[in-house]
Amino acid sequence: MNTEQLDLHAALKKYFGFSQFKGLQEEVIKSIVGGEHTFVIMPTGGGKSLCYQLPALLHEGTAIVVSPLIALMKNQVDALRGISQENGIAHVLNSSLTKGEIKTVKEDISRGVTKLLYVAPESLTKEENVEFLRSVPISFLAIDEAHCISEWGHDFRPEYRNLRSILKRIGDNIPIIAVTATATPKVQEDILKNLGVTNANTFKASFNRPNLYYEIRPKTKDVDADIIRFVKQNEGKSGIIYCLSRKRVEELAQTLQVNGLKAVPYHAGLDAKTRVKHQDMFLMEDTDVVVATIAFGMGIDKPDVRFVIHHDIPKSIESYYQETGRAGRDGGEGHCLAFYSYKDIEKLEKFMSGKPVAEQEIGQALLQEVVAYAETSMSRRKFILHYFGEAFDNETGEGGMLDDNMRYPKKKHEAKDALVKILKVIRDTNQIYKSKELVFTMLGKENAIITSHKTHLQPFFGCGNEREKTYWHALLRQALVAGYISKDIETYGVIKITKKGLDYIDAPVSFMMTDDHTYDENTNNQIVAAAKSGGADKKLVAMLKDLRKKVSKKLNVPPYIVF
Ligand code: ADP
Ligand code: MG
Repeated sequence: MNTEQLDLHAALKKYFGFSQFKGLQEEVIKSIVGGEHTFVIMPTGGGKSLCYQLPALLHEGTAIVVSPLIALMKNQVDALRGISQENGIAHVLNSSLTKGEIKTVKEDISRGVTKLLYVAPESLTKEENVEFLRSVPISFLAIDEAHCISEWGHDFRPEYRNLRSILKRIGDNIPIIAVTATATPKVQEDILKNLGVTNANTFKASFNRPNLYYEIRPKTKDVDADIIRFVKQNEGKSGIIYCLSRKRVEELAQTLQVNGLKAVPYHAGLDAKTRVKHQDMFLMEDTDVVVATIAFGMGIDKPDVRFVIHHDIPKSIESYYQETGRAGRDGGEGHCLAFYSYKDIEKLEKFMSGKPVAEQEIGQALLQEVVAYAETSMSRRKFILHYFGEAFDNETGEGGMLDDNMRYPKKKHEAKDALVKILKVIRDTNQIYKSKELVFTMLGKENAIITSHKTHLQPFFGCGNEREKTYWHALLRQALVAGYISKDIETYGVIKITKKGLDYIDAPVSFMMTDDHTYDENTNNQIVAAAKSGGADKKLVAMLKDLRKKVSKKLNVPPYIVF
């Protein structure tokens, strides 16, 4: 199609009522309208759906849209039907349709009325559907939530793996547009590889959310009281509190209620009616807070969520980013507070223990990134963006000061000699170790891997034992973000030295670093920082502990009351 002849702005106005494209939308649309494979990486809320909806409306034929969730498809189809007189403009094809309904869908497609056909990947594998789609003109294939194709994504769906072979059967040269909000380089590579696409136009938006404040606090047994206090300080504002288990969701929601706060639970174990009711209450502001498992959130588009609290740390940085990303969609304040304890990491490790080895290793690598994020003392925004392959200067970048580490910075100290030392160890041990083994080597500590490599590592064994384990880990994390070393996620975190790192050994300059947090020891620093940012009040905490003892002796169960 000739893009010159199309007035995309007029079409945007006509169909969606918007007068401007958002971010990279226009370039993306031109790419797919021009018949090219197109790959879009944009954060949640960036407006990815329009990137394939608008071109579908303008193109001859039907666009197939693959999406993992029936609820998401239904929402989109309803919205699209609202923009046209013709009900058949968008359809969902899935196994819940009656024979008659399927007939209507197929007739509308054959008549050329249907511009978008939403399908779940499992429906697309059905022989009769493939046969039918071969016989009608298809404009392009859109793959929403394309990270589902990758085991390295946070939501792997094996059925997404079949898309390439199905597409081959449906037709030659059908352009593909894949969209995702998962930005890690590894996932991106996986998506293109699995789709067999080598020549996609890639559009990547920045993942920086400059209005979000990132904060980690130590998770102690007073976590409920900490949360209640936070919610009280933010009363009247909308917020989401994520917990790992349904049981915890129920308990915490009750605890908040007993303390006079407006909160409802949400998890997949509640019946559909209750779930819809609680979700609507949140959207209509009949409740301030939803205490939820990760079942809550996909497709929730409430612009003024003011805080997202993680009662339990998520299993990957992607999940953390997605979940915290639901705060401050309108560009206003968004406080992202996560409670962290290493015990929770061990709990998550235990969950993985029954899984296949490959999956466990991936899970471990992702989890180690979460540990690094929680314990780091550097700019949290910089850490997240580095994880997503994006450079960020926290001195000049937008939102650079908005996290606990930047607001309450630890004292920096010179680490030039230490950095040279560890870089040399990495260089001279063949760049085959992960941080754990490197740090153990520095300390002169053994584990199974080190013992089996003893002769190889002997010259370096204990060469850094004047420092603590946490020091070396902190240094490695900061050297990584500064670009002296790189970490290959494909090999589950093996550390390599970069050109910049090799040059550094020859001509070192000052490298100022800060020590990591050691939350489990609950150092004074954190309590002071937390108190400053509206957290722990020692007197209150002591009072609560006392009160809880009394109450729980009587009742032997939560919830307890915070005054
Ligand atoms: P994503 O899939 O990237 O998370 P959506 O496609 O759901 O994002 O869009 C997020 C919101 O942005 C929707 O409410 C949508 O209507 C809105 N939106 C999309 N494009 C535009 C635009 N050009 N102007 C204004 N709002 C837009
Ligand atoms: Mg979307």
